[in-house]
Amino acid sequence: MKTKAQKKSAIAVKDLILDQKKGTLNAYGERFLLIPVKLIHSIEDRLTESLGPVTANSFEYEIGREGGSKFIQLAQKAGLGIKTAQEIQRVADVLGTMSGWGKGILTGAVAAILKSSCESIEVSCQGKGDKFCEAIIGEPREINRLADTIR
Ligand SMILES: [Zn+2]
Repeated sequence: MKTKAQKKSAIAVKDLILDQKKGTLNAYGERFLLIPVKLIHSIEDRLTESLGPVTANSFEYEIGREGGSKFIQLAQKAGLGIKTAQEIQRVADVLGTMSGWGKGILTGAVAAILKSSCESIEVSCQGKGDKFCEAIIGEPREINRLADTIR
């Protein structure tokens, strides 16, 4: 039995097919993987060891951006419009910390919603001791200009 809180936090996804025999999860004609968080951390550690923290973070950002854009395309295909600032905030809230994957996912999602090219810069970061992660997403030229003033 589910508690009220569990029901509220569960996301009902139409057309979600979990085939226990095959061990596959499909939704909207796409195959999904359920990956333990530990595996993600392991991938981050390997990337950092092999490429250094800056390049590893850049890799994670680009992969996240691709994923965020794909997520919005799937959501739109499924009729789940994510357009308002509140809906984008809801996506941001479930990402946790922003660096790497999270910032990329959000940037890719916003770019797909606005149908334009976007970049982002994190201006506050939990990983650096701030209370929360905060990123500004905008046109690449504006973000580059902002990055120059912050450095
Ligand atoms: Zn952060």
